[in-house]
Amino acid sequence: MKKIAVLGSTGSIGTQTLQIVREQRDISVCALAAGRNIDLLEKQIREFKPELASVWEEEDAKRLRERVADLPVRVESGMDGLIDAAVMPESEILVTAIVGMIGLRPTVAAIQAKKTIALANKETLVTAGHLIMPLAKEHGVAILPVDSEHSAIFQALNGEAGNKIHKILLTASGGPFRGRSREQLSDIRVEDALKHPNWSMGKKITIDSATMVNKGLEVMEAEWLFGTKLNQIQVVIQPQSVIHSMAEFEDGSIIAQLGTPDMRLPIQYALYYPKRKPLSGKRLDFFELGSITFEKPDMDTFEGLKLAYEAAERGGNMPAVFNAANERAVAKFLNREISFLEITQIIHECMLNCAYISHPNLDEIFDTEQAVCEWIESRW
Ligand code: NDP
Repeated sequence: MKKIAVLGSTGSIGTQTLQIVREQRDISVCALAAGRNIDLLEKQIREFKPELASVWEEEDAKRLRERVADLPVRVESGMDGLIDAAVMPESEILVTAIVGMIGLRPTVAAIQAKKTIALANKETLVTAGHLIMPLAKEHGVAILPVDSEHSAIFQALNGEAGNKIHKILLTASGGPFRGRSREQLSDIRVEDALKHPNWSMGKKITIDSATMVNKGLEVMEAEWLFGTKLNQIQVVIQPQSVIHSMAEFEDGSIIAQLGTPDMRLPIQYALYYPKRKPLSGKRLDFFELGSITFEKPDMDTFEGLKLAYEAAERGGNMPAVFNAANERAVAKFLNREISFLEITQIIHECMLNCAYISHPNLDEIFDTEQAVCEWIESRW
């Protein structure tokens, strides 16, 4: 039995991870951590019987402890609970499927405890790639991408050790508003932005896909995961979402990974790497698909991607500024406090106004997050 711990078990990636555990029957779950959805977490505890479960608020932990008093599970809360779940002695793999920069500290702790990291939480490498990648190397820990694009590139690079990557072709669906002008984006409602054409995901990443900030975060994540330079990462719009990304080598050969838009595939690939296992569900049918089309991204309308390249180019704490501003702005948009276009406006203003740190340590990354939040609250 493989043993895993899952942070963010009640979310989109978390529940799909547990779906794989349910179907494969050769993985046991040592720890589960969630935010506030204790109804679902209770069900997961009863089904997967972890030794440890953690929630964010101590109040929720108290309620959950009462509900699962008949089971031998320890219930913890807060950052201590997340870290304890991340470093469970029995666990081999940590699936980091929590949303936001909150995933950073538990991931650092898990690397120090020599756990293999199945990384969905893209905010980790975006904000602290310069700390995470060397730390993983120092501890001999593998970081296995769960994001479908990065999993595709990772799969394309199999057997290519020693061969230089010429270019990464990071594919993007273009989101629900592809082809629209800025004027047409001015009155976008939350409900419209939450309708992704191809993927079913958590709310935050769905909004990030609509603004194309998500693709920007993925560019930064790819830079760290594959050690490529920024100018070697090209975003290609591929609206059908069947090519999950591609790697181009020095001889011009391009290797792509294709499949239906189903996150269970990259999750399962990370859990069993380097083995492949059967997976239920629809298969790609080229005759049904008919055609695959490509477009250049419109970075003037979807400024999020342009700003992400700028943040990555400046480096230091600028990706953390970009990310923190986006997290806060998306929360405000979902709360109907700001308009759709103000999300990227806020990111831009934060990048212009927040203090630059060239090589931030972990504390400085969180100080940056706090400074960004305070700046936004004082102006918006
Ligand atoms: P969801 O919003 O669906 O789930 C987020 C999870 O994080 C939930 O389990 C939530 O718990 C938990 N969580 C939130 N805040 C806290 C907290 N303070 N303490 C503990 N747990 C917390 O997100 P997704 O699954 O869509 O995304 C997760 C990560 O994976 C993101 O970084 C995203 O960018 C990345 N990703 C997602 C993809 C997808 O297809 N969904 C694809 C590629 C990457 P609760 O609900 O109980 O509050």
